[in-house]
Amino acid sequence: MEKPRLNSLDSRLRPQALDILQQENWDLLVIGGGITGAGIALDAASRGLKTALVEMDDYASGTSSRSTKLIHGGLRYLKQFEFRLVAEVGKERAILHRNAPHIVLPEKMLLPVVKGGTFGRLGVALGLWIYDRLAGVKQSERRRMLNLDATKAIEPLLRPKGLRASGLYSEYRTDDGRLTIEVIKAAVRHGAICLNHLKVEAFKNAGDTGKIIGAELKDELSGLKYTLKAAHVINATGPWVDGLRQFDGSLQGKHIRHTKGVHIVVPHQRLPIAHSIYFDIPDGRMMFAIPRKPWTYLGTTDTDFNGELQNPRVTKADVDYLLAATNAFFPAAGLLAEDIRSSWAGIRPLIHEEGKSPSQLSRKDEIFVSKSGLMTIAGGKLTGYRKMAEKIVDMLVSQMLESGKLKANVKCRTADIALGEPGLILSDADAKALAGRYGLDLREIEWLAGLFGAATPKVLEGMAAGSSKEDLVLQALEYTIAQEGVCTLSDFFIRRTALLYFGRAWIEPVKVRVQDYLQQNLPFFSGSDPKQAFENAFREAIDFPQRD
Ligand code: FAD
Repeated sequence: MEKPRLNSLDSRLRPQALDILQQENWDLLVIGGGITGAGIALDAASRGLKTALVEMDDYASGTSSRSTKLIHGGLRYLKQFEFRLVAEVGKERAILHRNAPHIVLPEKMLLPVVKGGTFGRLGVALGLWIYDRLAGVKQSERRRMLNLDATKAIEPLLRPKGLRASGLYSEYRTDDGRLTIEVIKAAVRHGAICLNHLKVEAFKNAGDTGKIIGAELKDELSGLKYTLKAAHVINATGPWVDGLRQFDGSLQGKHIRHTKGVHIVVPHQRLPIAHSIYFDIPDGRMMFAIPRKPWTYLGTTDTDFNGELQNPRVTKADVDYLLAATNAFFPAAGLLAEDIRSSWAGIRPLIHEEGKSPSQLSRKDEIFVSKSGLMTIAGGKLTGYRKMAEKIVDMLVSQMLESGKLKANVKCRTADIALGEPGLILSDADAKALAGRYGLDLREIEWLAGLFGAATPKVLEGMAAGSSKEDLVLQALEYTIAQEGVCTLSDFFIRRTALLYFGRAWIEPVKVRVQDYLQQNLPFFSGSDPKQAFENAFREAIDFPQRD
């Protein structure tokens, strides 16, 4: 099949990309650049389908940069006896780690056993034993049960009252925004065209059959309108899927229930835990404490949400809940609202089930196909994105074979597609050599390597030795404009570098230079984000104690 002509995410080439988008007849339009849409675009493009993806804000700006950032096997499914799902998701963790070792990192998780808690000692021992085997975890990484003394020794901050034992087991931690952009980059390498800040406003339908044949788009940066022709359309808009189903009148039967999940970030020294911990909280739910030095982040809440999807807010009630739950389990920490350095809120797109509370709702995904041909995929998890993509693209390929648009079946290949530069991770020796060459602190190189993996030397190319930390941020900015579609301050400071959440002190000294650089290099950059998005996000992340 003939491939489109632009294999680049360079924001300077945005006008050319927009031209191509209008000129081609696409096999597939994917709407939504979160992890679900990104996974679908990669799967479809790598099977040879002519694929376009559009995202109304930035890649991962929806739920996919606001999760707990775990690639996890879903212990909760084990409690519901969903063994097949545990096995599938568990194996998926290993595939993602193999394909993106720079951003999917092994993480030991501690599950404390407490009097009256969710899991008893036998339940943890047996549950984690089954969990490891279903997920195919290597012998050396399988769970270890720790008695009370051993548990207290490795995590002395746990509340001693009621503590019995613990299980230490293997999960993975990621940076969800980075994972999404790596999948988008891989899709582009395989011939997809992807554009952020481009919103689908309506579908175009064939007059005789009512089938969708394209979409009307609005460039959110310039305000200009475009039209796109596509034989098939997948709606992968997460929390927004029902809004898109309304465009073609197919919103009937099952629908989405939105629930909000909040995380807060405190200095690691205020909650100096050695491992990630999955612990019971007083209302019967469980939550995570995750060290990401020099920070620890805590979450999450799970409450029904009816507000504006694009700007979910962290309220004082959310903060009070998380602090009370954490202090109940780590009383010695005595965390206060003043300890919080940053926060984020995300919306879960869950399939509604009558009579269930938010935390009882299934995290499974489902596909709906409407009369107009619109395929919608809803629900699911970050961890399962690749399998979700495989499932829906398999359906699409079957349709195309039936209609004669495709001559031969093409199978999913994404299990073997690396996400990142060849080599994927930067070795310690290379990191030291780079620090020496550019006169940088090793920690600064480690910061870059955590974001860009084996691409770190490319990020630093051309930088003068002895440059400042601000210059380093500018180097990362140039790389992300040229290689990762950065168009705005939020794209850069939130999704590409996560500095808003885990490095706010770096932002203030360099913000004006970043703004000037964007202005000089991107003609469409208007001086601030669309609708002041960055300033709002910045304020949202830090100022919740002062409101409501
Ligand atoms: P999104 O990421 O929201 O992407 C949808 C995109 O569609 C958005 O970027 C939006 O801007 C775009 N869009 C909407 N309308 C349009 C339009 N008209 N035109 C163009 N684009 C449009 N999963 C895990 O595996 N591990 C975890 O640790 C974990 N923790 C979580 C914690 C919380 C608090 C939450 C809320 C979820 C968590 N999840 C976790 C679940 C996971 O984050 C989500 O399942 C996943 O990110 C959903 O991705 P998505 O692509 O479907 O949706």
